[in-house]
Amino acid sequence: LPRLYSGMQPSADSLHAGNYIGALLQWKQLQTTHDALFSVVDMHAITVPQDPAELREKTRRTAAQYIAAGIDPENSTLYVQSHVPAHAELAWILNTITGFGEAGRMTQFKDKSKKQGADATSVGLFTYPVLMAADILLYQSEVVPVGDDQKQHVELTRDLATRFNARFGDTFTIPEPVIQKETARIYDLQNPGSKMSKSGESPAGILWLLDEPGAIKKKIMRAVTDDEAVVRFDRENKPGVSNLMTIFQVFSGRSLTEIEDAFAGRGYGDFKKELVELVVAEFSPIRERATALLDDPAELDRVLAGNAARASAIADTTLETVYDRIGFLRRV
Ligand code: ATP
Ligand code: MG
Repeated sequence: LPRLYSGMQPSADSLHAGNYIGALLQWKQLQTTHDALFSVVDMHAITVPQDPAELREKTRRTAAQYIAAGIDPENSTLYVQSHVPAHAELAWILNTITGFGEAGRMTQFKDKSKKQGADATSVGLFTYPVLMAADILLYQSEVVPVGDDQKQHVELTRDLATRFNARFGDTFTIPEPVIQKETARIYDLQNPGSKMSKSGESPAGILWLLDEPGAIKKKIMRAVTDDEAVVRFDRENKPGVSNLMTIFQVFSGRSLTEIEDAFAGRGYGDFKKELVELVVAEFSPIRERATALLDDPAELDRVLAGNAARASAIADTTLETVYDRIGFLRRV
């Protein structure tokens, strides 16, 4: 089976609708046809400040949500990034073949560092994409499903792999990004110009996977729309409504045209109410399963440890070859 790699940062207590639609739903499908690794990337999360006790908790919660959403830790390798030291080791090597200007062109770095200011921005945030390249290349991954915000990082990964192979001999598989086009990006409900983010600032704009039905209802009913009062998909002029329609489309299985027809002559109120029902029906069982898994953290940790051992076995083999190719003297 083709090897697949993806991950999410434990940067919040809950994942959100963007992570779910842009990543988890695809993972669930792809794990049946691929040899899949899904990581909770805690080393990426600390590229912005994290509280230590909270980070530990968020790491468990993220893993629990993967499983609750349908990732099977028996068949897929679901592990915590920092449990496999090879990630940091390969990232260092890749740092030395990455151009400073090349890394500086990454839009995620530009966005996140602009929000923080230069002195609050860590060098780790700058080299985030290089660590991500290490994640992917360690496992000789062929397929990398990501939201379209990560496409540029997968492109960089391909460039680094190609460069390393040319300089040191064939070592890495060149990965392909897999991005679901129409639903590639979910936007903030209050600020449909920016993507929904775990680290986003607007509490009312983020639809959390672990939200109670009441919170889901409140956020959707208050989501920003426009004053045309017509349910019509127009990303440019109606970003708020178009974003809600994207979520509606994914959870109902109906096309955008079918949705437009169904709500013709009706206001946003009806549309939003039906959307609330769809989201609650989708998220509630996941919230319940995640809560049950988190009631037994020792068992969850045991599952993660077993999966990390599986990941290490693959990663260490790649790292061994890399050390050899670049000319590191091996300790005897
Ligand atoms: P952070 O704000 O901490 O960066 P995030 O919400 O961007 O968090 P990540 O952990 O960085 O989430 O990304 C996990 C996965 O979710 C990636 O595949 C990413 O492409 C996808 N993703 C993140 N945000 C969205 C979104 N708004 N729409 C679709 N996919 C998304
Ligand atoms: Mg992100």
